[in-house]
Order: sequence, then structure tokens, then C-alpha cells
Amino acid sequence: MSKPADTDLAAYSGFATNLDGKAMAALLRAEVAKDVAALQLRQTKPGLAVALVGDDPASQVYVKGKVRACQEVGIASTMLTLPATTTQAELLAQVDAWNADPAIDGILVQLPLPGHIAARAVIDRIDPAKDVDGFHPLNLGLLAAGRPGLVACTPAGILKMLSIYGGAHGWTPAGKRAAVLGRSITVGRPMALLLTNADATVTTCHSRTPDLAGRVAEADLVIAAAGSRHLIQGGWVKRGAVVIDVGIHRNPDGTLSGDVDYAAARLRAAAISPVPGGVGPMTIAQLMRNCTDAAARRRGISLV
Ligand code: NAD
Repeated sequence: MSKPADTDLAAYSGFATNLDGKAMAALLRAEVAKDVAALQLRQTKPGLAVALVGDDPASQVYVKGKVRACQEVGIASTMLTLPATTTQAELLAQVDAWNADPAIDGILVQLPLPGHIAARAVIDRIDPAKDVDGFHPLNLGLLAAGRPGLVACTPAGILKMLSIYGGAHGWTPAGKRAAVLGRSITVGRPMALLLTNADATVTTCHSRTPDLAGRVAEADLVIAAAGSRHLIQGGWVKRGAVVIDVGIHRNPDGTLSGDVDYAAARLRAAAISPVPGGVGPMTIAQLMRNCTDAAARRRGISLV
């Protein structure tokens, strides 16, 4: 297909609405804090247990952010740092202990794990009712069946961003053509299922998809989670599309970029999420939401 150049003024549709994930995450955290307070009135408090194995610096930053968010909304957090030499059996024993602990409502084992530990075995061991990451096959199956369960934080947070934007701009995923780039269990796959459940017509793209530019160009909604810096050029984006950038890439100068060429794409999109300050903060806020929902469900309390 012929692609308009990023500099083509005829392609210009104005500047996109910036989907401010920091501001949206603050709204979501405030909502969660209210629910945590409601649970506390009933003499109960949600508890999140986090295990970090090894000393991956990016994982350390993510885990710290999660613990800080717990403090902010009033969730009790238990943070366990284990050496990289921890065996799979030792980690599974820790998961078993948290599964059996009534004060723990959410269990999160930070990925990636050292090579000698099978992430799948660890994910499968977590009690699905405490699986606040939403990676357990039971929760993924419930999502595929369109039934309530715990949904992975990044895609669930993105759906919330879309709903906040949609509420303000009269926009909904229903009836829209969506292109989801990436099919991982953590982002792309659950994202495609969530959008299907929200009545979008979804194309899941991956590393073997031919004519990616064509798939993006026909989409009213683009979710970029391919993990490839600036893979999506501005000229690919359909005029008036909503673009969500999940990618995180550290540049040599220390700044962060996403999967989308933001500066060019914002000239054509109706709305676009920045990197940083877009999906990242929403992911952590959604973890707080999942943990609080898990706590309420496990105790048979309705939060509505
Ligand atoms: P992953 O490596 O597990 O999966 C990447 C997916 O992209 C795969 O399904 C692959 O088939 C697909 N892909 C690769 N090249 C492609 C191409 N050229 N075209 C289309 N698809 C292609 O990664 P992931 O865990 O899903 O994460 C994706 C990105 O999102 C990474 O940059 C990651 O750092 C970021 N991420 C951000 C957050 C957040 O909170 N902001 C959370 C999770 C992941």
C-alpha cells in the first residue's frame, strides 16, 4: 500500500489528545483507596505479596513502584527479595505458603525469572483467586469465555484508559476495527480478548504478520505491544485513530521511547498515549484494583 509521508500536510488532522496515564492512574488509585477504606470499615484490609528473584535493575524499579502504590491506597504489602540462586522448589514453596495465608489476597512473582526457574510452573501454582497478574490459565480461560475473572493489569489498565477517554469524547471500542500488535500472554493476547469482549473487530498482529503497515492503516484503534522501538511510523496511522503505546525502550541518553513514533503519529491520531507517562502508571494502578477486587471477592463483600 502507498503510505503518506509523516511530513505530508494533507495528512495532518490536528494534534491528538494526549492520553495522560499519570492523571488517569491517580483517578484509579483514588477510586481504589475508597474501596480499601470501605473494606477497612469491615475490619479487613487487602494484602499483596510480591516476590522478586535476583537483582534485575528494571524489575527492582517496577517492584518498588508497586509497593509504593500499595502504601498510597492502603493495601498491606509483603515484599520478598530472593537471591538469583533460589531454586524452583523453594519459590514454589513460598507461593504455597502465600496461597495458604488468609491475609494475602494477591500474589505477584515478578517476571522475568532466572533461567533455571520455569515461569509457567510458578504461574500455574498461584491460587487463581489470588492471581492479581491474571496470567493463570484459569483466568485467561475465563477472559476468553467472556466471564469475570482477574485480568492482566496492562491490558485491563488500557481498557480503563479507553473508557475514560471514551467517556469524555463519546468514543467506544464497540464496532471499531482494532489492531493489536503483539500476542504475549501478558499484553497482546488478553488485550485482543478484552477488545473482542468489548465488541471491537480485532486483528492480532505478531512477528509473522505480513504488511503490518496495512493492518495499522485500517485500524480505528491501535495497541502497540510488539517491543520494537518506533516500529509504528506516524504515516501508518489512520487519521482520527486512537493509539495506545505499550512499548518501553531505554534510549542511549537515558530517556524512554515506545513502539510508536509519537511525534509523527500525534499529527494524525485523535488520541495517543505517551511513553513515559501513558500505559506504565495505569498498569500499576490496575494492580491495586485487581488486589482490592480479589480481597473483596475472597471475603464475599460487594464493592459496588
Ligand atoms: P513479548 O516479547 O513477550 O511479546 C512481543 C510480541 O510482539 C510477540 O507476540 C511478537 O510476536 C510480537 N512482535 C514482535 N515483533 C513484531 C513485529 N515486527 N510486528 C508485530 N508484532 C511483533 O513482549 P511483551 O511482554 O508483550 O511486551 C511488549 C512491550 O511492552 C515491551 O516493550 C515491554 O517492555 C512493554 N511492556 C510495557 C508494560 C507497561 O506497563 N507499560 C507492561 C508490559 C510490557
